[in-house]
Order: sequence, then structure tokens, then C-alpha cells
Amino acid sequence: MVLAQLGGSISRALQQMSNATIIDEKALNDCLNEITRALLQADVQFKLVRDMQNNIKKIVNLDDLAAGHNKRRIIQQAIFNELCKMLDPGKPSFTPKKGKTSVVMFVGLQGSGKTTTCTKYAYYHQKKGWKPALVCADTFRAGAFDQLKQNATKAKIPFYGSYMESDPVKIAVEGVERFKQENCDLIIVDTSGRHKQEVALFEEMRQVSEATKPDLVLFVMDSSIGQAAFDQAQAFKQSVAVGAVIVTKMDGHAKGGGALSAVAATKSPVIFIGTGEHMDEFEVFDVKPFVSRLLGMGDWSGFMDKIHEVVPMDQQPELLQKLSEGNFTLRIMYEQFQNILKMGPIGQVFSMLPGFSQELMPKGREKESQAKIKRYMTMMDSMTNEGNTNPKLMNDSRIMRIARGSGRQVRDVMEMLEEYKRLAKIWSKMKGLKIPKKGEMSALSRNMNA
Ligand code: GDP
Repeated sequence: MVLAQLGGSISRALQQMSNATIIDEKALNDCLNEITRALLQADVQFKLVRDMQNNIKKIVNLDDLAAGHNKRRIIQQAIFNELCKMLDPGKPSFTPKKGKTSVVMFVGLQGSGKTTTCTKYAYYHQKKGWKPALVCADTFRAGAFDQLKQNATKAKIPFYGSYMESDPVKIAVEGVERFKQENCDLIIVDTSGRHKQEVALFEEMRQVSEATKPDLVLFVMDSSIGQAAFDQAQAFKQSVAVGAVIVTKMDGHAKGGGALSAVAATKSPVIFIGTGEHMDEFEVFDVKPFVSRLLGMGDWSGFMDKIHEVVPMDQQPELLQKLSEGNFTLRIMYEQFQNILKMGPIGQVFSMLPGFSQELMPKGREKESQAKIKRYMTMMDSMTNEGNTNPKLMNDSRIMRIARGSGRQVRDVMEMLEEYKRLAKIWSKMKGLKIPKKGEMSALSRNMNA
């Protein structure tokens, strides 16, 4: 991924500045120029880069900084914040709720990966217990319905479309109606990505949107479109109320900077990225870990600092040891859930982890999250009563027994096990983590500092 090159260039610029004997106006300008060059090369729109540079200069007033301040740290933090600001429009996107019907309409140019992404999005939610359905309202491209049908069948997701009907609005309305009656809680409408002319494409999108009244319009953008990203995203935004962006093909040779431009153009957050052609090559997008990675700070920026700051001294070695072993057991999950519920110190630390914070405990939905965690724990209690807590040894009859034992549905047990797998994957990335001593600079969070 060329984004790694961007990250490398930015880290080098920061490192060079750190190596300078004194950090004055010149050192700061040199560093910012390097970063500007790197961002432009990565296809971030010129105006965005210029604004960012000006903002940093405004924030970092070297003259005003009293002696003794860590200027490097302040500059690094300003760059981190500005990049996060670029990627975070400041308002979260609509998130569908389980059990309550939501209509999500996908828009984007042909070839952007729209149809593939519709299925990935449906599959992702299906695994989490939603009841999704797909509607193909692309009557322009021959084969569009077949493609959606094939993908949907593979993922065992109900679909609707027609080989005969040529009116996309009619199909969209019929499909949405049918799946509402079937109590699907996530109805996904795929629209056309190409037309005889652009005006006709946008008009069709507008009509489908008016007729189906989507709760969310998702703009799908190919990460390799480069500098054209801003204008393209803006054109879509002007026709329909784009509420969030999905950037595809992040696994390829794309420069990826277009993602930053799309956020600025649509004032909507990137919520997922596509990282391959397969159904599960699809990731939730988190701004802070992404920028941390871009700046070479690792995914867990600040995490180590936080551990030293808030975890009682006597608990630190055990927790760090478990982290470095990368072995996430159900026992550990149970303990961390207990901590989160108590919101004790370790709970605070774990709420900083990308996996725990965004997915399990989204902001503003703490009550729901707590209820979910409690539900998981009841099922885990039932597993313990069964005398076997190894998720790998789970089979249908055990899952049914656990569901019965905890008074939950089989689907709830499956969801809890999925959650375990997801957290275990995140946890495994910590394997081999170098454990810094208190006061020592964390290789993870400060590797750019002098
Ligand atoms: P649409 O015309 O926008 O509906 O695009 P499609 O869904 O047909 O995708 C176009 C091509 O891009 C297909 O070959 C997909 O397999 C491929 N594709 C979609 N998303 C990704 C991705 O995240 N990574 C990679 N490598 N290929 C993708």
C-alpha cells in the first residue's frame, strides 16, 4: 500500500526535525514542507494540504512556547490532530440499529467496487446478527443483477432484482417494500454507477433516493482515483445526501490520499475500507489508529502511556505480560468485561483500544454497550458451568446448551463468539510487544520523538 510510503515520508520529516539541534522557525518550516510534499504525492487535494500547513503554523507558535516545553512533542501532536481533523468531519454517520428497519443506499461510479462492497457490508452486519437484504436497482449495466445475485447467494443474503423491469425506481421501491414486510432490518439498495451521461446518472440516483428515503447514503470510492477524488465526491454529494464514505481497494497500489479528500468534499466520515476482493476483506475504519499508523506511531499510540498512568503498579506486570503473549482467552475477555463494567482503571485503558472502543462501546451508546457486555457475560458464565471455555471446541449442540443455560438465543451465543474472535485478532497483534519500563519511551507511541 502506497500509504505506507506516505507514512514513511512523514515519519522521516518528523525525525529530521527531531535531530535538529534547535527547533526554530526554519526547522518547523522544513518539516512542514516535507510533509506537504508527501501528502501531495499521495494525492491529497492541494487546498486541504495548504490549510493543514497554515493551521499547524497557527497552533505551533514557537515564540510563545515557554522554555522547557517539549516543542517536538507539541509539533508532532499538532500534525497528528490536523490529520485526524482532515479525516474526521466532526459528526458520526448514521448507524443502523438491529431490529429496526434501515435503508442504506449505495452510490459510486462503475468499477469503484460498489456491488462488491454492498455484499461485504451486508455480510459484515449479518455476522453481527442483523437481518440484511440486497436490492439491485442498477438496470443500466447488463449483468449487474447477476453479479449481485451471485454474491448474495454466496453469502446467503436475500436479494431482489429483475431482468425485465427497466425502471430502477420501481425495482428499488418494490425491493424495499418486500424486505420491510419480511422484517429485514438492513435493506441495502445498489444503484447504477454509469449512464449515457453524468446528468442522467445523478438524476436517477436522486429519484431512487426520493422514492426509497434511505436512512443513509453511502458513497463508494476507489482509492486509486487520486486527485480526482475531491471533485468526484463533491459531485455525488451535490446530487444525494451522502452520509458516509467507503474507500475500496486499499490493498492495491493506490496512494490512498483520495480518502482524505473525499471526507473533506462530502463532510462525511469514512466508515469502512475494502482491502481485497473477498467478502470478509472489509474493515471498520477508525481515524486515530489510522493516522497513528500513518505517522509510524503504531496502532496503540498512547496506550502504553495510559497503562502506566492509570493501572495500579501491582497490576501492570501481569497485564503487560498477557498482552505480550498475544494469547486472548475467554477468561481474559471475561475479566476485561468486568473491568469495563466497573469502569475501573483497566476499563479505561481498554476503552482506548480500537476494537473495544469503536465496535463494542461506541460513543453515546454506553447503556446499550453495557447491556450487551452483561449479556455476553451471562453466556460466558453458562460456558463456565459447562466446564469448557475453549471456543475452538464449540459445536452446535454445545452452543444450544449454552443458549438454553443462559436463557438466550443461539444467535446471541454466535454473536458473542464472533466478538471473541474479533477481539482475539486485535489482541494477537500485540504479541511480542516490547514492554517498556515506566518513564522509558514507548517504541509504540513515541518512536518519532528525539
Ligand atoms: P461496481 O461497478 O462499482 O459495482 O464494481 P464491482 O463491485 O463490480 O467491482 C469492480 C472490481 O473491483 C471487481 O473486480 C471487484 O472484485 C474489485 N474490488 C472491489 N473491491 C475491492 C477491494 O477492496 N480490493 C480489491 N483488490 N478489489 C476490489
